[in-house]
Formats: sequence, structure tokens, C-alpha cells
Amino acid sequence: MDEKKIVIIGAGPTGLGAAYRLKELGYKNFHMYDRNPHIGGLASSFTDSAGFTWDIGGHVMFSHYKYYDKCFEDLMGKDYQENMRECWLRMFDTWVPYPFQNNIRYLPKQACYECLAGLVEAQTKRDYKSAKNFKEFIDAVFGDGIAKYFMTPYNFKVWAHPAEMMNKEWIGERVAVLDYNRAIKNVVMGTDDFGWGPNNTFKFPLFGGTGEFYRRFAKPLEGHYTLNKTLDFINIAKKEVRFSDGEIVKYDQLITAIPLDKLCNDVINGEMPREIKKATKNLKHSGGYMVGVGIKQPCPSTKSWMYFPEDNCPFYRVTYLSNYSKFMTPDHKTHYSLLCETSYSEFKHVDGKTIVEDTIKGLINAGLIKEEDRKDIVDTWVYHADYSYPTPTVERDGILAQAIPFLEQHGIFSRGRFGMWKYEVSNTDHTLMQGVELVNRLLHGEPEVTIGMKYESTTDGRNAAVHERPKVAGSGDPRRAPAASATGKTSPERATVASHPGQSKSLDKAIAGLKEVKSGHRDPGDKAEAHTSEEELGVTTPTKEVAND
Ligand SMILES: Cc1cc2nc3c(=O)[nH]c(=O)nc-3n(C[C@H](O)[C@H](O)[C@H](O)COP(=O)(O)OP(=O)(O)OC[C@H]3O[C@@H](n4cnc5c(N)ncnc54)[C@H](O)[C@@H]3O)c2cc1C
Repeated sequence: MDEKKIVIIGAGPTGLGAAYRLKELGYKNFHMYDRNPHIGGLASSFTDSAGFTWDIGGHVMFSHYKYYDKCFEDLMGKDYQENMRECWLRMFDTWVPYPFQNNIRYLPKQACYECLAGLVEAQTKRDYKSAKNFKEFIDAVFGDGIAKYFMTPYNFKVWAHPAEMMNKEWIGERVAVLDYNRAIKNVVMGTDDFGWGPNNTFKFPLFGGTGEFYRRFAKPLEGHYTLNKTLDFINIAKKEVRFSDGEIVKYDQLITAIPLDKLCNDVINGEMPREIKKATKNLKHSGGYMVGVGIKQPCPSTKSWMYFPEDNCPFYRVTYLSNYSKFMTPDHKTHYSLLCETSYSEFKHVDGKTIVEDTIKGLINAGLIKEEDRKDIVDTWVYHADYSYPTPTVERDGILAQAIPFLEQHGIFSRGRFGMWKYEVSNTDHTLMQGVELVNRLLHGEPEVTIGMKYESTTDGRNAAVHERPKVAGSGDPRRAPAASATGKTSPERATVASHPGQSKSLDKAIAGLKEVKSGHRDPGDKAEAHTSEEELGVTTPTKEVAND
């Protein structure tokens, strides 16, 4: 009877994690709302009228948590398959196996030399510890060649922000020391050194795409959620939320996954201190266009996903989504699907009106399909995410340290990919666990480990957020044993093209337009993480098993 009322805004993985945990603990006085007509948030999937199923960008599930694994097992039963990851980079009109630095030999000789020489110089002479931002970190760790050909252009395509604006902490320490001897040996000996193998797998729902897992939360949470319900306003003093249909709901504690900048400026307008509103307006993000292309041909490849650093295509990543499950197309024997992701921001313009045609041209330029395959394109699908990637800027942690404690003093807990804005802990496993851990904190007083923030009382009694990257829950791959050298499987076709891809014009422009980067500031409590995210980098390789959870 005396349970406090917990209201959850957002039925994406964060809200679902919180609601699921509350239900599991036998808590009754809670309700979740979402503006969408479906649950799942950015982890939703859609089956279109042509019979193709699409995710909002290729979703690969690498769990870092036993709780998440158990949740997946309980809800999915046997309805999933295990896929071997097979990642590639497309450069100089050839396929370079992942991880990039171990397969430099696939590049034309001049680029190969520059990458190798730069890597050796960086690893032996440069000091990454003094790097003030992501750009300086890239140069200090990877050297001039890898920076020029891959890291700088690729990261601009993903983040749509110059690397100078970004902090280096989101990547973590692990990537800082690269095995340059291995890189040299592979070039000299002509060795293939693929980062995938039977130990490097990921689970994927058999039917319905990534979103199927989240759809299955509906049943256990029946009666505890309402869809098509948009939050308009929060009255902090009265502890009330108001929805666009006029309904007002009271809360004792509010969990929200709304983007933090919107929360502080639009939704709680009026009652927020001006400095917090101003600070959170400086949080940066990119938007994204996810373009699905369905082709009536048998799938020509076993690849999982591919990185595209060059300027000849708009997308940074393409996924052979039909390789994740045979039920992703109308008929897997005769159809396959490509899911292409393009990001944009104030620094990188993308035309949403032409994105489908631009993507198809890009697929042709990048050698994934040929001009004559156009006739076999039987389906295109577009999803526009105005909030796609939370940018880890140099200023970000200072902003979070202001906003999060203020909100919490008023019983508002902002969590999730854009609620917490921590890209490094914003994959589906992290966000679901952000919700779970928050409930464990609210009900049992247990500290949250994933968000990388702890709270300390200052001498004047204020609550201060101290950022601390958790050692146990990082982003990216679960660090299984590396597959040393794949033999006999897909042999990448060698190329002889020696043309220079050149640096992206939009990147040049963005860097030129970047007037000032306040690179010195970061929260003093911020620490680098022991292991990192590879999906975004395409360069690192697992070194050893790291305990999760
Ligand atoms: C392109 C892309 C690729 C990705 N790839 C991967 C991957 O490979 N692996 C992986 O694990 N993760 C991946 N992710 C991340 C994954 O999608 C997120 O971790 C997850 O969806 C975040 O969950 P969330 O609940 O924090 O936020 P969201 O999923 O954004 O959910 C927030 C919810 O809040 C609702 N909402 C917002 N405003 C209001 C309002 N005013 N009123 C009511 N409801 C509101 C929204 O409708 C939404 O449903 C990817 C994401 C993107 C965009």
C-alpha cells in the first residue's frame, strides 16, 4: 500500500529494463508510457509490406551482463540463432578484413607503408596520455597513416562531428597499446589475420529482427504500460507529468529515457536553473538515416557488417541483415538485404530527400552491387532517427555532472542512450541494465555500475556527480578469445587499384569551421575504461577474456 509511484517515460530498452526489474521484484505501483505505438525504442524492428524485416541500423548484441543474458534466454527461449561475426572494411576498391591494423597488407603499397610506418612511430615515440581530444588520441595511438586513411575519415562519417570535438575517454585505455610487431609480421609474411572465428559470435532473434526480443517484454509487463502517449510537461514542484492528450499523472519517482537536452529545455521548461538549460543545450548528437535495400538475388556474401571510410558512398556501415537470420527476407534462398547507415549533423549535411538514391549509388560505387543489379532491387525502406548517436564531446561529462544530480534531487532519473548521453554505455545491453540497476538502487540502495557516475556529498551538502568509468561494464565486444588466423574460408579478393581515396570534403569543411575546441576541460573524476568498443573503431582486436558482470 505504501509503495511509491514510479512513472517510466520511454519503452525502449532502458524503460523496459526498469519495468521488468520492478515486476520481477514484485513491485506493483509503476507505469511506463511511450509516444510510439510499439515498444522497443531504437531497438525496434519493422517488417514492411514486401516481407523484409529491418532494424534501426544493424544491431549486434554483445552482452556484458549475466542478468541480460538470462533475460534474453527467459524471453526468447530457443527462438534465436548464433551468428559468427565477419567484419570487413572497404577501401581502395578492395575488402580489408577487420581488424584494420592487422591487415594493412591488403592496401596498395604506398598506403600500406604509410600506415605501418605511422603505427610504429606512434607506438614507440608518441604519448597518447597527453592527448586532449579524440583526434590527438588517434594520431598518438594509430599514427599518421591509419589516421589519414581510416580513423579520421571513418570516425567523421560515423559521428558527423570532427574528432577534435570529441573526448578520448569513451574509447578507453585498451586500444592505446597496439601490437605493431604483429602488424609488421602480417605484412612481411603475407598472413591473413582475421578478427573473427567460431569464438566470436552474437545472438540474433530468429524472427522479427532485434525488436522481437523487446516485443516479448509486452507480456510480462501487461497492464503496466500505455503506448501512443507523449509526455509534454513535467511539473517538478507538484511531481506531475502531463501528456499531450491532457492527462496528468502524479509520481514519486520518475525514470525517463527522453534525450537529456530535450528533457531539460522543452519538457521541464521554466523550473530548470538557467545554467543547466544552457549547458544541456551544448550536448551534441547526430541523426541518422537507415536505408534498407532488398534485392531479389541469392545472397552473394557471408559477411556480417562492413565499414566504409571513403567518400564514394554516404554510409559508414552496411549490414548484410539477411545473413543474421534466414527469416529476414520473403525467401532467403532468392532474396537478401542490405541495411545502410548514414549519419548527419550541423557539421555534415545529408539530404533526406535523396538518401535512398544516394545510398544505392554508394552501394554501386563501393562495389557491393553492380549497376545491372538495380533491376533486382525489389524493396527500399527508410528510417529517420533524429537522435541516433550521443556524441561524447570534450565538454559532455561536465554537463552531465551539472544536470543529473539536479534532476535526481527532484526525483527525476534520466537514463539510457540519450537520457545519460554516454555513448560508451549505450548499447542495448548497457541501456537495459541502466534501467535494471536504477531500480536496484531505488529499491535496495545498490550502487549503479554501468552509468559510470557515482554521487558524493560536497561540504556544502550538494550532491556532486563524479564520473568513473566502470571496470566491469564496458562497451563493445565481450572479449572472447581471438581467432588468430582464419584459413580456408572467405578469401578476400586482392585489388591492385592504387588510387588515393582522399580526405572527405565535408570533413575538411567541418574542421575548418570548427572555431574553438575547449579541449582542456573534463571532469576530474573521469577515468579511462579497461576495454573498449570495437564496433565503432574497426581496428582493435580482442586480446583476452574479460569477466563481465
Ligand atoms: C544506428 C544505431 C545502431 C545501433 N546498433 C546497436 C548495436 O549494434 N548493438 C546494440 O546493442 N545497440 C545498438 N544500438 C543502440 C540501441 O538501439 C540503444 O541502446 C537502445 O535503443 C537505447 O534504449 P533507450 O531506452 O535508452 O532509448 P530509446 O531506444 O531511444 O528509447 C526511448 C523511448 O522514449 C520514447 N520517448 C521519447 N520522447 C518521449 C516523450 N516525450 N513521450 C513519451 N515517450 C517518449 C521514444 O519513443 C523511445 O521509445 C544502436 C542504435 C542506433 C541508433
